[in-house]
Amino acid sequence: MRQPDYLRTVQSFVRNELIGNEAELDSLAAAPIPAYQRFAETGLANWWLPKESGGLGLNLEESVRIVSELSYGDAGVAFGLFLPILTTSMISWYGSDELKERYLTPLQADNGFCATMGSEHAAGSELARITTTARRDGETLVLNGEKAFSTNADFGRFLVVVVRAEENPSAFHAVLVPRDTPGITVEKRWDVIGVRASATYQVSLRDCRVPAANLLQGNGLRLLEVGLNASRILIATTALGIARRARDLCMDYAKTKQVKGAPLASNPVFAAKLGQFEMQIDVMLNQCLAAARDYDAIAERPDAAEEFLRAGTLKSALTTKMFCGQTGWQIVSAASEMFGGVGYTHESIISKLLRDVRYVSIVEGGDDVLRDLMFARYVVPVSKRS
Ligand SMILES: Cc1cc2nc3c(=O)[nH]c(=O)nc-3n(C[C@H](O)[C@H](O)[C@H](O)COP(=O)(O)OP(=O)(O)OC[C@H]3O[C@@H](n4cnc5c(N)ncnc54)[C@H](O)[C@@H]3O)c2cc1C
Repeated sequence: MRQPDYLRTVQSFVRNELIGNEAELDSLAAAPIPAYQRFAETGLANWWLPKESGGLGLNLEESVRIVSELSYGDAGVAFGLFLPILTTSMISWYGSDELKERYLTPLQADNGFCATMGSEHAAGSELARITTTARRDGETLVLNGEKAFSTNADFGRFLVVVVRAEENPSAFHAVLVPRDTPGITVEKRWDVIGVRASATYQVSLRDCRVPAANLLQGNGLRLLEVGLNASRILIATTALGIARRARDLCMDYAKTKQVKGAPLASNPVFAAKLGQFEMQIDVMLNQCLAAARDYDAIAERPDAAEEFLRAGTLKSALTTKMFCGQTGWQIVSAASEMFGGVGYTHESIISKLLRDVRYVSIVEGGDDVLRDLMFARYVVPVSKRS
């Protein structure tokens, strides 16, 4: 089947800008790195933004195909480029028309970035323990607190911040905060061990005032859950891209490496490993696509916003992130062994892939947290079991 144009564009971006530039992409260079601008020049920046906001309106299934290609080249670039989907999907579903017009339309026009600020140090994954607050003061909201991790926050145009209502500590909100609001301080950029072409920051908010109209509609924790569906599926997809790259690196290496007087590629032990990789990669691909179709089926409904709220965390988003994180790790770990001692050095790209793939099972909920969530939401209620 002929590839769609957008996919051929992404593949050519990956070949020209990412493959071969691994050392630079892995160097934690000043963000945003030039590759982000190069990607914007393809016309595909923020490819999922709805047509009403001037975007291309590509769906999540198409996004899976794009992210698999991008992360074949570099998972950090892929992560930095797609993570705004978490922020923009919350605004698309739960923001007022005015917020969409004021923030999503220019984001599309300027190929900009935006960020979500949920995580806090003390609360960890128990987001109901967050301490960042919003206080109502007439027609404004005043935000105070510190957020531990936020990708793209430094150069994003706006942030969606998850807060506790000061007047009612059991209520949570998601608030759109323009990045240039006085009182926002980027405390530091994290020196992450993988996905180093992305940029994640610790950020504090001190008496940040925004219009009360910047509140998204609904419980902030629930809106975050909804937003995480798309980004979890795409984080899972980065494991797929990384695993495909690892497989291809192994095939290239095996043509040159001699074992018992013959190329490693003709060794049955090697063949069994690569056959296993291919089976795992195929299942990862099908799982990512199936989860994306689940998501798209809701997104296409006229009552999508309400249906997403009703569904909350989609089962397929959880299974896909867990499965791909674990399987990607198995593949890259086995692949790294194949390169012998060199595979354990910075001379080999495989060591970068090993660091990169680790993030899949940590970011947006570690596997222990997701297993716990899966148990509570999809095992205990008998009707939700597969
Ligand atoms: C590169 C990167 C980018 C990120 N980007 C963002 C971003 O843009 N926005 C944002 O809001 N956050 C972001 N994060 C935060 C990220 O989502 C969290 O770090 C991740 O979800 C893990 O949560 P935590 O750090 O709070 O650790 P915790 O979840 O608190 O985990 C710490 C330990 O507690 C255990 N644990 C926690 N809960 C349970 C449980 N229920 N059952 C058993 N064990 C449990 C875990 O297994 C683990 O051993 C980013 C993080 C990184 C590293």
